[in-house]
Amino acid sequence: MSAGRAHDAIVIGAGVFGSWTAHFLRKLGASVLLLDAYGPANSRASSGGESRIIRMGYGADEIYTRWSMNALPKWKGLFAQVGRPELFQPTGVLWIEHEGQQYALDTLATLRRLGVRFEKLSVAQLRKRYPQIHFEDDCWGILEPESGVLMARRAVQVVVDQATKDGVAYRCEAVRPPAETHGHLSEIVAASGDKLSAANFVFACGAWLPKIFPDLLGKRVFPSRQEVFFFGVPPGDCRFAPPAMPTWLKVKDEFYGMPDIENRGLKIAHDRHGAAADPDTQSRAVSPEALALAKEYVARRFPVLRDAPVVETRVCQYENTSNGDFLIDRHPQMENVWLVGGGSGHGFKHGPSMGEYVAERVLRGGAIEPRFSLATKQVAQRRAVF
Ligand SMILES: Cc1cc2nc3c(=O)[nH]c(=O)nc-3n(C[C@H](O)[C@H](O)[C@H](O)COP(=O)(O)OP(=O)(O)OC[C@H]3O[C@@H](n4cnc5c(N)ncnc54)[C@H](O)[C@@H]3O)c2cc1C
Repeated sequence: MSAGRAHDAIVIGAGVFGSWTAHFLRKLGASVLLLDAYGPANSRASSGGESRIIRMGYGADEIYTRWSMNALPKWKGLFAQVGRPELFQPTGVLWIEHEGQQYALDTLATLRRLGVRFEKLSVAQLRKRYPQIHFEDDCWGILEPESGVLMARRAVQVVVDQATKDGVAYRCEAVRPPAETHGHLSEIVAASGDKLSAANFVFACGAWLPKIFPDLLGKRVFPSRQEVFFFGVPPGDCRFAPPAMPTWLKVKDEFYGMPDIENRGLKIAHDRHGAAADPDTQSRAVSPEALALAKEYVARRFPVLRDAPVVETRVCQYENTSNGDFLIDRHPQMENVWLVGGGSGHGFKHGPSMGEYVAERVLRGGAIEPRFSLATKQVAQRRAVF
């Protein structure tokens, strides 16, 4: 059965990248169909987590600082428009650094150059301001006071709701891998058997991209298992909630966390890439090894929470490219098929910038930034963007 009228664009995947892409395609006047196999920001999707950090610091990778700076007002603008300002939590983001860390010095230089507001804090200032956190003697900090946390799952659902109000059609459909065509793809087939035609197809399928394009991306997008813990705070104790406690990152330890937002507990996650993960079937129960590591870290960094219970957990996956740069490119054989993904553990915040960039390229053309191209994606992992 044919679904009838062709669209200017079909976007496959209603995670943060696909939903913002649909939004901006529509803003540019396109007729858009947005599809997702499991629903917008579902529990298997990388965008389906409770919360995601939005920060401006990116070491020397100015391109991502610029994208974050562009994205934050767009997120806030949408939340204001739909009357949901709480979907951005302005917790501030604290980088906990050690002496001599080049990444931190590069971050400082980039923030200064681009005029991002920040405070540089000595270890004495850190200890005074955040007595609930343990800082080693050679620590110092960079606080981004205007950055914070996006309430991820609900934020994406708001993007999709608003996009549908603006005229994007949304359907729950699992799309089969497209038939290998040379030149122009005219239609895709859904698991239901429906054939869906469009002028352009955007595959924003996160960790599923290697399953849909196994020959092309099977070795170029590496989904890794990531485990997240929420620790219960002591009763009547506000030291771990905003504004007393910021969101924080500690590059050296590869851990990051968030304060007790909406009373879910103190969030802690290990940023190191976990084992290879299948987004359809991987277990969403945390492993004893990751739990032990998180507990040990909490005891060290937040001594008051040494015996805090775990009150919630999440298991998700990063969709890593070889170095952490995003993937935005045309399919090499099908000129109207776009590959959009590779968020690599840091993509969420950039949803609006990604959507704007992709919609512009799909409808109006223009060169692709080499860092986003398929040609720069290697088959061995060497993480360079954090
Ligand atoms: C634990 C964790 C913590 C993170 N922390 C941060 C952070 O603090 N800040 C930050 O900026 N980023 C963070 N990220 C990264 C960020 O969440 C991801 O990069 C981003 O959500 C990727 O979005 P996406 O739209 O590409 O993929 P997804 O959200 O996975 O969306 C892809 C969608 O495609 C659909 N789909 C797949 N195949 C098909 C098909 N055949 N047919 C139809 N639909 C299909 C899926 O159902 C899914 O909904 C984190 C990620 C994880 C896992």
